[in-house]
Amino acid sequence: MNLQIQHIAKKFHNGTKALADVDFSVSQGEFVSVIGPSGAGKTTLFRILNGMMECTGGQVLLDDKRFDSLKGRKKRELQKSIATIYQDFCLVENSTCLKNVLTARLPDMGFFQGMFGLYGKTRKEEALKLLDRVGLPEKAEEPVKNLSGGQKQRVAIAGVLAMSPQIIIFDESTSMLDPQGKAEINELIQEIHKESKMTIISITHDIEEVAHSDDVIVMDDGRIVMHGKPEEILLQEEKLIDLKLDIPFSLKFTKALQKQGIEIEACTTMERLVDEVCRLHFDK
Ligand code: ADP
Repeated sequence: MNLQIQHIAKKFHNGTKALADVDFSVSQGEFVSVIGPSGAGKTTLFRILNGMMECTGGQVLLDDKRFDSLKGRKKRELQKSIATIYQDFCLVENSTCLKNVLTARLPDMGFFQGMFGLYGKTRKEEALKLLDRVGLPEKAEEPVKNLSGGQKQRVAIAGVLAMSPQIIIFDESTSMLDPQGKAEINELIQEIHKESKMTIISITHDIEEVAHSDDVIVMDDGRIVMHGKPEEILLQEEKLIDLKLDIPFSLKFTKALQKQGIEIEACTTMERLVDEVCRLHFDK
């Protein structure tokens, strides 16, 4: 499913212009990261993309069909192709992981189905497979409240996969996690993207995650200020620092080595860094 965001603007009732002329497209299977300092307009963009908020200018097209101006049943139909992962997981804490995955599929019906146990054997098997896929096979009957943050986010991801969406939007999905949880969720997102070729839009503060996407959009003050491949964007360190954004560890490390006179290429990912260090080691 292709997504086109055409000249989107958002002005709130109090006069705040949160977005101005935001224009980009995301092709089927692409992984796009959206970064920017606080107040840049990321959350507003996210809400418009998942249909929770209306824009005041421009349009959003899903496979050439206008999405932003749809209402009622037609909107809900199209909305089913877009799933969202939130930073605070949005799970039913007292319910088991399995039930959370089962009810994620039909949010309107899930509660009633849950009450009457109307899931069916195939659905249960599918949900168990998904919990296995996200690395939590032994947690199916465990209440979500007993899980770590990273594990909760895995359950949320399994729930979203059960919906078989065409686009997944991650909204700061790792911001409440510890470094290990962050790394694990980032790895899982990359694996899912490779396996399923779903379109992924990740609104994030995590620069390590950005390095692994296909395309990076940098926002500031409601506008897109940089847009390109991660290598192009991340190498513009001064601009990023001006925007109060970080650069990946691998890039900091290679820059420090370059300052010492070591001829090493600037690496934006840990994988590239390991390759470069091995090359230096074996070439000497
Ligand atoms: P980010 O997610 O990048 O931090 P937001 O999209 O939350 O940015 O906010 C962009 C701008 O819009 C900010 O100046 C913010 O104060 C303003 N804003 C966000 N929501 C509202 C609202 N409901 N009413 C008025 N202004 C808002």
